[in-house]
Amino acid sequence: MARSFYISFATIIITCLGAFAIFIWHIEHRLPNVSYSEFVNSLEQNEIRKIHLRGNEVIFVDQHNRRLASFIPDIAAFMAELDASRIEMSAEPRPLALWQLIVTFLAAGFTLMIMAIAWGQPRSQRQEESTSEFARDKVVRLAPGEREVTFRDVAGIPEAKEELQEIIDFLKNPKLFSRLGASSPKGILLQGAPGTGKTLLARAIAGEAQVPFYSISGSDFVEMFVGVGASRVRDLFKEAKKNSPCIIFIDEIDAVGAHRSLGSGVGGQDERGQTLNALLVEMDGFSRYDTTIVLAATNRPDILDPALRRPGRFDRQITIHPPDLKGRLKILAVHATLVELARDVDLAEIARKTPGFTGAELANLVNEAALIAARNDKDGIYESDFHAAIERIMMGAERKGMVINADERRTMAYHEAGHAILARLLPNTDPIQKISIIPRGKAMGHTQQQQLTDRYTYNKEYLLNWITILLAGRAAEKIALTQQTSGAEDDLLRATQIATKMVCQWGMDDQIGPLAYSRAEEGFLGGESQMVFSEFTAREIDKTVRRLVTECNKIAHATLQSHRSFLKHLAETLLQTETLDSEELEIIFECSRTKKLSEDGTNTPLCESSSCLAAG
Ligand code: ADP
Ligand code: ZN
Repeated sequence: MARSFYISFATIIITCLGAFAIFIWHIEHRLPNVSYSEFVNSLEQNEIRKIHLRGNEVIFVDQHNRRLASFIPDIAAFMAELDASRIEMSAEPRPLALWQLIVTFLAAGFTLMIMAIAWGQPRSQRQEESTSEFARDKVVRLAPGEREVTFRDVAGIPEAKEELQEIIDFLKNPKLFSRLGASSPKGILLQGAPGTGKTLLARAIAGEAQVPFYSISGSDFVEMFVGVGASRVRDLFKEAKKNSPCIIFIDEIDAVGAHRSLGSGVGGQDERGQTLNALLVEMDGFSRYDTTIVLAATNRPDILDPALRRPGRFDRQITIHPPDLKGRLKILAVHATLVELARDVDLAEIARKTPGFTGAELANLVNEAALIAARNDKDGIYESDFHAAIERIMMGAERKGMVINADERRTMAYHEAGHAILARLLPNTDPIQKISIIPRGKAMGHTQQQQLTDRYTYNKEYLLNWITILLAGRAAEKIALTQQTSGAEDDLLRATQIATKMVCQWGMDDQIGPLAYSRAEEGFLGGESQMVFSEFTAREIDKTVRRLVTECNKIAHATLQSHRSFLKHLAETLLQTETLDSEELEIIFECSRTKKLSEDGTNTPLCESSSCLAAG
């Protein structure tokens, strides 16, 4: 910056001096002026030897050889009077006036100055200046009062922490490693679904080792101008090496490190390729004594360029999975220390209710619960606030204001009752947690089941029952109200998907056999590679899927037919109460059972009124 200031300052001085010089020169060379009448007089007296016209100005030489000047008001009239043959005469057009000269000069001077500023420095240097500012910006500095992130803040992923402990030891004491000739680790790739704590982990390493932390996102490198990304990479590494030992963290490395054959649009591809190459060159350029460690995170490891994983680059990969039950409890405990919990909160229970939640989602859950508690003016966060938050996150906010007509509500009640009854009656299913006909997010009503443990695999019976439960909503509408509505769209879609996977992916149908016709979309690993199969097989698969779903549908219908009073009782109660929990469901179940028995005339009614929630 200082440099361009000097350049512009110097140009201003030179321009002003130049303008002044022109001014002086002009004054110095001004001829002695005479009046027009004096000039005409001399002309008539034949005292003039030479005339030179310059626009309206006349410069003449008199008989004493003096050069004089005058001004002619009307050139045309003057020329008509003049006998040009007698006097030697020449002419030229009107020159620039003094002020015009100076303005032109100044304009040229300022233009030059601007060009000097813009082009005064060599091109590469110009770029470097802006990018090194860029690199310096990327150091994560703590705000005043902010605490460094350490391993204590990272919970529930002990394996990843263990693997990274070695990196911390190295950063803390690089000599210990080099003493025995071991070369340091260079690049570590953290892969896992979004929100599993990759960024957190990287920051914790820097915090534990007490080293500078350069954080950058892959998309920061990719700019409109080709070459900027690459020079930013070089610059970042240069800056980091100056401050080593340190950590460079590249989030979303897939933005630059995607497989080079996976083009995305024109131009962008070239830029990404250059940036990736620069990154590889920098990493290869590490000497064995360098103590800069590059951590990168991605949730699409499948699309990364294989060149990134070569030895000396990101040769260490750590996969971070969403936490299990114990992990979730630990993460909840970490985040619960930041808020005011009421006594009745059992974090283990909440961990049980949140299978599949990532660390980020659990952090969000705690925050959401705190917001709900605050909105209700509570002195702490209660278990009920957590439940409300879980529902809100899983299903969207309740749409209490939504107007639903009576017919639709009745259909919803029977539909949800159908799901609930099958879930209650079929063996090997998850217990029901809540039934509701209050619209939430996209869903109209919902029946919530609770997984007792984290599920990693599903058995065939469980899956078939799942399909049956999904189909029971539509079945209940048909049986009780003799109608079908579009509300079952989602159920049908999911039932079909499960059946298709059972046949094509999990080899669960005996006729098709234990063959996998398509690969699972393995969680975050994505990637759908289809296996080729014949048209005949395709038809067989279609037939089998249809058979599975139809069989489940038959079971749903039959079960509901034989429990019509349970269905009616449950649906009518739902219409009155809108939501039911598992205990209330049990009571209604018992009521309808005893009633049915008494109707069959085999037993005395156990349930008269007190425990029954509504008329059956
Ligand atoms: P990623 O980089 O994998 O997308 P982040 O590291 O940005 O995920 O996680 C976002 C937030 O979620 C973190 O700031 C933290 O509050 C919370 N979080 C995620 N994983 C954990 C964990 N294992 N322990 C504690 N908090 C976590
Ligand atoms: Zn449904």
